[in-house]
Amino acid sequence: MIYKSLYRTYRPQQFSEVVGQKHIVTALSNALKRNKIAHAYLFCGPRGIGKTTVAKLFAKAVNCLQPDQAPCGECASCVSMNQPNHPDIIEMDAASNNGVDEIREIVDKVKYAPVEGKYKIYIIDEVHMLTSGAFNALLKTLEEPPRHVIFILATTDPQKVIPTVISRTQRFDFTRASVKDISELIEKVAEEEKIQIDPEAIKLIAELADGGFRDGLSILEQVIAFADEEISVEVVSEVYRLAKAEDLQYFIEDILNLDVKEAYRRLELFDQMSIDYRRFTHDLMELCKASVILKLTKDSTFVAGRFQEAAETLSMHSESHRLLDFIDEFLNVQNNARFSGLYRSYLEVATLKLCQVEEQKVVEPVTERPTVTKVAMDKSEKSPVLPVQPKPQKKTRVEPKVEIKAPNPTNSQKVEEDIISVLIDLMVLGKKELREQESERWYKVNDLALDPEYRKVAIILKNSDIKISGEEFVVVSLARQEQVNVLNQPSNQQLIRETMKAAIGTEKSVLAVSNQELSKAVTIFMDKMNSKTLPTIEEAQKQLVRFEVKEPEEIEIIDPEALLKEMLGDLVVVKDE
Ligand SMILES: [Zn+2]
Repeated sequence: MIYKSLYRTYRPQQFSEVVGQKHIVTALSNALKRNKIAHAYLFCGPRGIGKTTVAKLFAKAVNCLQPDQAPCGECASCVSMNQPNHPDIIEMDAASNNGVDEIREIVDKVKYAPVEGKYKIYIIDEVHMLTSGAFNALLKTLEEPPRHVIFILATTDPQKVIPTVISRTQRFDFTRASVKDISELIEKVAEEEKIQIDPEAIKLIAELADGGFRDGLSILEQVIAFADEEISVEVVSEVYRLAKAEDLQYFIEDILNLDVKEAYRRLELFDQMSIDYRRFTHDLMELCKASVILKLTKDSTFVAGRFQEAAETLSMHSESHRLLDFIDEFLNVQNNARFSGLYRSYLEVATLKLCQVEEQKVVEPVTERPTVTKVAMDKSEKSPVLPVQPKPQKKTRVEPKVEIKAPNPTNSQKVEEDIISVLIDLMVLGKKELREQESERWYKVNDLALDPEYRKVAIILKNSDIKISGEEFVVVSLARQEQVNVLNQPSNQQLIRETMKAAIGTEKSVLAVSNQELSKAVTIFMDKMNSKTLPTIEEAQKQLVRFEVKEPEEIEIIDPEALLKEMLGDLVVVKDE
């Protein structure tokens, strides 16, 4: 018997069986019912989330003899199309056949009528891989295809598909599946296959699948092959060599405690457990991110999943800016080790860097923070963890609580995703006329750069260009990241506002970004504009308000009058002089 993968075995046979992608399935079934079928479609989205599945269902549906329930799965056409290699469904993988000759062959045969049904359907997967010659050969046919032909082009990278092709197709963007959707699918398949699997394990597999149904089922398949009896979280972790959430938490706590020795011992142990460091680094970032989200939102629904408990503990014992620094460093590890594979070495370096915090002048209110206690450790033999004695957080920076903490210059600004989504919101809010007016006056910063009052920031601003301008803000771009960082330092904001007033006549906030960040944001903006998923002005404003609360959260503003009252009670009456 030929082995058939779970993903193929459980491929939906009807639109109603498709999990997720409801917006697409509904649009396609409505088009079928109203007989408004386009001759070319473009299916975009990450791999393994059902593009080909939906394409095949649609191919079956257009030929189904019962259009009301298409694809019915019962009529002669549907039954016949269930066979592999049906002559009216022509599949091509552009990743392996990307040349002009292959496309010419398709184009030549397009004119022949379908063998059985009404339509011949060409499914071209990874269409962005076609050479430009091949694209051009395809273009003419896409412009005026015979009536019996439908093209479904699928791609994981729509930005590489030439615009003339995109404009001739009806585009659908497939979204990553939610953990819930993937969990449901895994649960269903496990039930059909009579496999014992515990709910936590299902959830973990769904998380590992990273939004892909196909990955979810192939992980399940591997775990089934490995497990003897019931599939548990431990089994999945073992197959995928994952560190447990609490091990990640302890490692982060070691660094928070500035305990290099303990952190290194733990890495040594992870080595013995043959942890997958790539995944480990990714998980460290996820855990830090979850902790910051918890700190800022106080809402645990944002961090469902296996990191929830660990994130709660960490969020109580650490500062957001510290965790954001961690994310930065782990991101560096990921970028640097991606090709060399030297995750362990880079993690050691990151640990050293993060433990050098004493040299930075960071003031933290230590008084109220409970000590980091190591929760009961798992002593099972399967997953050994270092027995660590509870130890107090190192109190290296005891300062009176009244101090206003110096904000860290390199925290949230460096989280690229955040920046890009903020930029997109600002693009939505930006006004072209304002930008043009202000750009005309921008030469004035050259003069301000000579003025001692403004020099500190004007000397950098003069290297920048105004890229977006709104009623209350301006976005400038710069070539050098260090200069971007200086402009974004909270301590410079007031001076920048004054400099803006002197240069363009209006006091405005300035967000500095690097040229790369801006060009990335522009690409995503265009993409969203094409797929009509841009935020509305209202949504953009709302999201920006949310972004801005991050900074003040860190700063304690003390009203001296209130402080006096708190200390001395009503004995003190503060008089206005
Ligand atoms: Zn049918």
